[in-house]
Amino acid sequence: KTRVYKFGNKTADGNSQMKNLLGGKGANLAEMSLIGIPVPPGFTITTEVCTEYNLLGKDTVVEMIKPEVEKSIENIENIMGAKFGDKDNPLLVSVRSGARVSMPGMMDTVLNLGLNDEVVIGLAKKTNNERFAWDSYRRFVQMYGDVVLGMKPESKEDIDPFEEIMEHLKDKRGIELDTEFTIQDLKDLVYDFKDAVKKRTGHDFPSNPWDQLWGAVVAVFNSWNGDRAVYYRNMHGYPADWGTAVNVQAMVYGNMGENSGTGVCFTRDAGTGENIFNGEYLINAQGEDVVAGTRTPQQITKTGSLRWAELAKVEEEDRVTNYPSLEELMPSIYKELNEYQEKLEKHYSDMQDMEFTMQDGKLWILQTRNGKRTGAAMVKIAIDMLKEGLIDEKEALLRIEPNKLDELLHPIFDPKALKAANVIAQGLPASPGAATGKIVFFADEAAKYKNSILVRIETSPEDLEGMNIAKGILTARGGMTSHAAVVARGMGKCCVSGAGALKIDYKNRILKVDGHEYHEGDWISLNGSTGNIIEGKVATIEPELSGEFAEIMNLSDKYATMQVRTNADTPKDAKVARNFGAQGIGLTRTEHMFFEVDRIKAMREMILADTVKGRKEALKELLPMQREDFEGIFEAMEGLPVTVRLLDPPLHEFVPHQLATQKDLADEMHISLEAVKNKVSELEEFNPMLGHRGCRLGITYPEITEMQARAIIEAALNLKAKGIVAKPEIMIPLIGTLAEFESQEKIIRGTANTVFEEYNDTIEYLVGTMIEIPRAALTADLIAQKAEFFSFGTNDLTQMAFGYSRDDAGKFLPIYIEKGILKVDPFEVLDQEGVGQLVKMGTEKGRSTKKELKVGICGEHGGEPSSVEFCYKTGMNYVSCSPFRVPIARIASAQAAI
Ligand code: ADP
Ligand code: MG
Ligand code: MG
Repeated sequence: KTRVYKFGNKTADGNSQMKNLLGGKGANLAEMSLIGIPVPPGFTITTEVCTEYNLLGKDTVVEMIKPEVEKSIENIENIMGAKFGDKDNPLLVSVRSGARVSMPGMMDTVLNLGLNDEVVIGLAKKTNNERFAWDSYRRFVQMYGDVVLGMKPESKEDIDPFEEIMEHLKDKRGIELDTEFTIQDLKDLVYDFKDAVKKRTGHDFPSNPWDQLWGAVVAVFNSWNGDRAVYYRNMHGYPADWGTAVNVQAMVYGNMGENSGTGVCFTRDAGTGENIFNGEYLINAQGEDVVAGTRTPQQITKTGSLRWAELAKVEEEDRVTNYPSLEELMPSIYKELNEYQEKLEKHYSDMQDMEFTMQDGKLWILQTRNGKRTGAAMVKIAIDMLKEGLIDEKEALLRIEPNKLDELLHPIFDPKALKAANVIAQGLPASPGAATGKIVFFADEAAKYKNSILVRIETSPEDLEGMNIAKGILTARGGMTSHAAVVARGMGKCCVSGAGALKIDYKNRILKVDGHEYHEGDWISLNGSTGNIIEGKVATIEPELSGEFAEIMNLSDKYATMQVRTNADTPKDAKVARNFGAQGIGLTRTEHMFFEVDRIKAMREMILADTVKGRKEALKELLPMQREDFEGIFEAMEGLPVTVRLLDPPLHEFVPHQLATQKDLADEMHISLEAVKNKVSELEEFNPMLGHRGCRLGITYPEITEMQARAIIEAALNLKAKGIVAKPEIMIPLIGTLAEFESQEKIIRGTANTVFEEYNDTIEYLVGTMIEIPRAALTADLIAQKAEFFSFGTNDLTQMAFGYSRDDAGKFLPIYIEKGILKVDPFEVLDQEGVGQLVKMGTEKGRSTKKELKVGICGEHGGEPSSVEFCYKTGMNYVSCSPFRVPIARIASAQAAI
C-alpha cells in the first residue's frame, strides 16, 4: 500500500479526486501540478497514516513510512537542486496539515523546516541575503516552538511567549514592524526564543533536520485531535476517524525582500458572491502574515484597493505610495495570477480560495480550494455559474447547503434606524449581516450575555467556539482575508474587521475610540455590509430576498417530487410559509389557540366543569373562536390542504397553578377555591407525556372532538360560501390502536354530516392520524383500513422509541453526545437506524393496505436536510416544517430527488 504521494514539476501521484486519502490540500496540490500550475514540489503522507499513527504510535509509524519519505525528499532535492540538511546548499520544507475538508487554521503548519545554527549561515551565503536567512530562522523557531513544542500562552490574558519577546525588543528598539528588525535583532530573537524553549520544556531546541521533520509530522497528526480541531469537527459533524494528511513541500520564500511577497485571493466575492477577483497580499512576508493580521495587507486589484482606501479613509497619494495594489505594483505577476485564478475556477467550476507566494519575482501557487462563503454568496454564485454555463441546473441545486439558507432569512438593520445611528468607527465589511449585542473581549466569555459582540484585536483559531456563540465579530486588525473574516463568512456571521481606530485594552476590558470608552456589557451594533460600527442598539426589519434566492427556489420545484408543507398555528405564520413556497399545512396545533388570554378562561371552565352539560356549555363559547381561527388559516392557505390536529396536550397544562389565578377563576365560576385546587391536583400526572392526552382526551370527552370537528367543517363551509376553497385534513393525535381511531373518526364524520345537513352544503375533507406511538407504526396496516392519511409525529415517536422524555433529556443528552454514545441529538436529526425503521415500516404497512395512502412527517425533523432526504427515500408525499425552514426543506427535497 502506498502511504506517500509525490507532486511537483507538472506531475503527481495523486489528483483532486483523492481528497479522502490525500486531504483537500494534498489532492489539490497534486491536481494543480498536473494541470501545469507552478506548485513547489513536495509529497503527501495519507490520512490513513494518521489513523495508523493513532493506533500504533510514533515509532512504528515512522519506521513504516521512513523509506517512502526519504525517497520523496530526494525527489524534491532533485527538482530544487538543493539538499535537505545540507550546510552549503540547503533545502527547506514546510510541513502542512490538510484534512479532507478545509478547516481554516484549525490545524498546524510549520514553515522553513531544516534550519539550524549552521544551515542558516549556508542559506545566507547561498542567497546572499543574511537578513532573509535569519528572518526565516526566527520564524521557524517560533512556529516549531508553538506547534511542536507546545509554547503557548499560559493564560488568556497573556500573550504568546514569543510575541512577548518580540514586543519587548520592539519597545527597546523603538520600532513597530517585524520588517524593521536588524540582522542582529533577528539573531538575538532566535537565541532568546531557544532559551525560552529550554526554560519552559527543559529540552534543547532540536537541531537535526530529520528530527525536526519527524517532530513536525507527528505534531500535525496530533493536531487532528487538538481542542480546536475537535470542536470544529463536532460543529460540522465530521467523524474522528477521517484523520489528517501531512504535506511536506519545498519552501518558496516571500520574505526575500521587496521583490517577494505572499497573499491570499478569491475568484469571486465570498461575502456577496459578486464575480469579482479579489484578495490581499504583503510584500516581504511569509505565509501566515496576511491571515494573522499583524500588518495591514494591500489589495490585489486596483479596484479593490480604491474601495479599501475609501473605507479605511486613506488618501490617494498615501495609497499609491504605501498601499498600492499588486496590479499596480507588479503588473506582470498580477497578470499571471489572474490567468491562474481564471484557469482554476474553470477547472474546478467553483469559486476558489487560493494562496500564493512570489519569490524574487517568480509566482508560486501554494493552495487552492473551494472557497468558504456566506449563504447569500452561495446562492448568487450557484445561479451565476449556471447562467455562465459553468454548471448545470442539478449541480447548481447541489451547490446549495440547505442549512445556510437560514442566514438569508435573518433580520437586517432598518434603514430608517441606520440614518439616525451614531457611527463610532469604520472597519472592513468582512462578512455581511446585522449584529447587535453587548461587548465581550474574550471568546470564552461570549456566552455571558444572550447577545454578545466579540471584540478582539485579532482572532485566532482558539476563539472559534466563542465566535460561533457571539452575534457578531469585530476586530481592530486584519483584512478581508484575516482569520476573523474567513471564519465569520464560513459561519455566515456578521463581521467587521481591521477597524484601526479601535484601541482595545484586554486587561481593563475597555474599548477606546476617538476619546470615548466602551466597557464590557455595553451595547454596540455592527453592519457587516458597510463596515460601520455603531453605538448602542439598532432596530431591525425582515430581509428582502434577492432575485437569485427566488431563482434557486423555482429551480428546486423543477426537480423536487416530494412536497413541502409547513407547521403553522396562525394565519400570520401560514402567510409567511406560503411566501416561502409552502404547499400546504402539515400541522396546525389547535391547542395553541387556547392559550390566548380571552380563550383560556373558556377552556378552563370546560376543564373544571363536572358534567357533560357544563362542558358542552363552555365548549359552545369556544366554538366560534376556533371557527374564526380556522377560517383565517384556511383563507391564508387558499386552496391548499390544511392538516388540523385535534386537541393533544394533557389538560393539566391549561389550568392555573398560581394561587391568585386559581382564586380569580373560582370567583368567576362561582365555585370554591377548594374545588379549583382539587381539580388541579386531580389532573396532575406522574408521566404527563404518557398520560391523559391526545385521542385519549377525545375518547373520555367526546364533546371536545365534536366541537373541534364542527369548527373545522363550519369554517370550510363559510369560506366556500365566499368562494374560497378550503381543504381540511382532520388529524387524530396519539393513537395506538385501530379502535381508538375508529372511535374518533365516528364522532368527526357524524358531526360533519350534521353540519352538512344544517348548511345544506358539503365540502371534501379527510380524516387521518398521526403515527407517533410505536404501536401505531407496528399496526399501520390495520390503521390504514380507516385512516385516509398518515403523518409521522417524529418528536413523540423519537421520545417513545428511545424512551427519552423530551422534557428531561436536556439533563443527559449533552453528556451522551460528549461521550460519543449518540452522534447527534435524535430530536434534531432523525435517527434513521432506529426510529427510521418505524417510519419505514409504518409507511410500507400502511400502503400495503391502502396503496394511495398519503404519508407525511410533521416533527421538527421535517426541516432538517438529512432527515428530509430520508423521508424522500421512504416515499413520503410531503414533509412539514416551521415556516422559516420551508426554503431549506424545499432545497433538500430537490437534492434528494437529483
Ligand atoms: P492553513 O491550512 O492554516 O492555511 P497552510 O498549510 O496552508 O496552513 O500554510 C500556512 C501558510 O504558509 C499559508 O499562507 C501558506 O501559503 C504558507 N506556506 C505553506 N507552505 C509553504 C511553502 N512551502 N512555501 C511558502 N509558503 C508556504
Ligand atoms: Mg492554507
Ligand atoms: Mg405528538
